[in-house]
Amino acid sequence: MSQISGILEKLEGTSVYDVLINMEEAYERISEEQSSWYEKAKFTCPSGCGQCCENFEPDLFECEALYMAAWMLENQREVALQIADGSFPFEKAKGCQLYNPASDYHCSIYGGRPYVCRLFGASSSYSKEGRKSWKPCKFYPSSVLASHTPPLEHRQYSEEETLNVLGAVPPAMSDLMQGALSFIPDSERTVVIRDILPATIKKLMWIMNMNGNDNPNGTPNAPMAA
Ligand code: SF4
Repeated sequence: MSQISGILEKLEGTSVYDVLINMEEAYERISEEQSSWYEKAKFTCPSGCGQCCENFEPDLFECEALYMAAWMLENQREVALQIADGSFPFEKAKGCQLYNPASDYHCSIYGGRPYVCRLFGASSSYSKEGRKSWKPCKFYPSSVLASHTPPLEHRQYSEEETLNVLGAVPPAMSDLMQGALSFIPDSERTVVIRDILPATIKKLMWIMNMNGNDNPNGTPNAPMAA
């Protein structure tokens, strides 16, 4: 079941519809492959951590920003409208503007989060020799790693070592990104969330207005500038 079905309905026949369908499929694939890894390896982030978001704000490709905007308009419309007006819910000078320090889950837009947030800590990379390797997240507490059976450290593990210590190797980041890379132009540059998201929400609302009625309650909104 799509997490943005209402928005997709209003975008049928547009090129943005195709981008969003591709993104949702790519994100679902990541989720399926990681679930299978979590099940076998039983290695997850420490409960309530969130350190990776505290001093980091993701840069997004347009397709990621479009999915995030669509997810917010579908699931958190009021917040999306505030962001379109330039006001983020957890505004701060540094770090992600969507990070909620008061929640144990921290990410306030979990279903709409971008690639880097889905891949960080739960993916492997390829060595020059074409073998996978994995490294525990740098924020993982050393004491928790040491209590793993067998004990783990903050270092690179080869494919064979990862199999020995975790029983499975996480999916490779480049393989998981394959679906997205095929429709991101080589020349496209990424833009930080606080700069790209307000304009992308406005753009999406404008496209929906041009394509029909963007209001789930049935009252058309006035067209907005992209
Ligand atoms: S989008 Fe969510 S997961 Fe990604 S950095 Fe922001 S708060 Fe963290």
